[in-house]
Amino acid sequence: MNVRSQISMVFHLDKCLGCHTCSIACKNIWTSRKGAEYMWWNNVETKPGCGYPTRWENQEKYGGGWETSNGNLRMKSTGKGRAIFNIFHNPRLPSLDDYYEPWTYDYPELFNAPEGPDQPAARPVSKITGKLIQIQAGPNWDDDLGGSPVYAQNDRNLVGLTDEQRQQLSSIERLVLFYFPRICNHCLNPACVAACPSGALYKRGEDGIVLVDQKRCRAWRFCISACPYKKVFFNWLTYKSEKCILCFPRLETGQAPACFHSCVGRARYLGVLLYDADQIETAAKHRDEELIEAHRSMILDPRDPVVIQAALQNGIHSSVIEAAQKSPVYKFVKEWKLALPPHIEYRTLPMLFYIPPLSPVMAMQGKDKLVENVSVNLFHDIDEARLPMKFLANLFGAGHEGKVRYALRKVKAVRWYRRAVTVGDVDMATAEHMLREADSSPEEAEDIYRLTSLCALEDRVVIPPAHREETIERVEDTAEHQTNHGFGFLTELGRGM
Ligand code: SF4
Ligand code: SF4
Repeated sequence: MNVRSQISMVFHLDKCLGCHTCSIACKNIWTSRKGAEYMWWNNVETKPGCGYPTRWENQEKYGGGWETSNGNLRMKSTGKGRAIFNIFHNPRLPSLDDYYEPWTYDYPELFNAPEGPDQPAARPVSKITGKLIQIQAGPNWDDDLGGSPVYAQNDRNLVGLTDEQRQQLSSIERLVLFYFPRICNHCLNPACVAACPSGALYKRGEDGIVLVDQKRCRAWRFCISACPYKKVFFNWLTYKSEKCILCFPRLETGQAPACFHSCVGRARYLGVLLYDADQIETAAKHRDEELIEAHRSMILDPRDPVVIQAALQNGIHSSVIEAAQKSPVYKFVKEWKLALPPHIEYRTLPMLFYIPPLSPVMAMQGKDKLVENVSVNLFHDIDEARLPMKFLANLFGAGHEGKVRYALRKVKAVRWYRRAVTVGDVDMATAEHMLREADSSPEEAEDIYRLTSLCALEDRVVIPPAHREETIERVEDTAEHQTNHGFGFLTELGRGM
């Protein structure tokens, strides 16, 4: 067992309001610089929708992530061997049109326009060329456009839906959307790191944050193609790649990352997970339907004496183990199995997990047929929700519904149980039966309720104390061991920016 610690995250999608406060907090701190105007390390998309950059989930176009071939794991299109052919032209990069041309407005015109019959207008001006432009797209261009034929209906996650389901999705009675906040997943098997010919991207040893060494970056941009989530960006002025750094300077001083700290919906959770790094390659090679369980099984119980012993032997500080024991992420991901990784089939083993949303039950099914709200099947509304289960399964279950259905049943059972407790219009015996059916209990339901609804910032964000100096010393001592590890990125442990 090779125990490592990783700062991990959970986003609760039923709690996200789509206010974009997180995006603005991140932009103000990290990407309001020249060359970074178009970058949104944190963005919030509307689903169904095409996202930012447009259609980032289209791996036939971008070839991001990993695939298995004859029992081996290889990058989809940007392995170092194949990268040589794309050195001078890489067709698998998003263009500025896929992101958008950043703009400002001609504000001086409002003050300096000569007197005339019309009100002066501040027209949009490109932040790249300084010329007037017609705005054609933006990072939130499809915001709230549930059902739109241009955006929602081009969502990759609609694959496998029947024609009837697709039609219903865009009918006015069934319009539905949810918000999908995204940052770098700080993956355990990061394709961005593996793709970089210069070794500029690396995963920090003590907390797993994935960073770009600005001095080493040689502008190959293979990291951008390789990341299936399109969370590496290219600064057109410095000619270096950049990405979410999970606000590590804030974390090292005990503060929550800006997007977590500012989250209005209190939808974000952060905490340490201990995992077994020896299982990375094996886990990533599993079949699609087994991936979530394989990923989960890598996450270790921080209270298990054997794990604690192995963690201490591996140089993990006892204060980090204590933080792992209090981690809200561990509860959501491992104990309650409510939070799922996005697109696990990309096999980068993301360490940001999502609690899928319970969308409203449809009022109308087919023509003029009202759905009964009472049913012998306690969870009938999960299948009758406006957003087809298949859509959520494509996003959070590698196309398989089982784990998503399990999470949604539990979320619904907890809601009914709390309604029985507080409002009293639900029969308690039915609510408890529902909890049992959802593999839960009243005690667990209370814990889930507390961490979901009554949580303060210190419950949602449990930051371990930083032990940077010790980590660097440890890495120097164990450099030889790391070099022998099969995955290149582990040799980069502990290097600072
Ligand atoms: Fe790299 Fe994963 Fe982050 Fe993409 S999401 S930049 S693959 S660590
Ligand atoms: Fe959602 Fe929180 Fe971001 Fe608002 S700040 S969009 S609630 S994740």
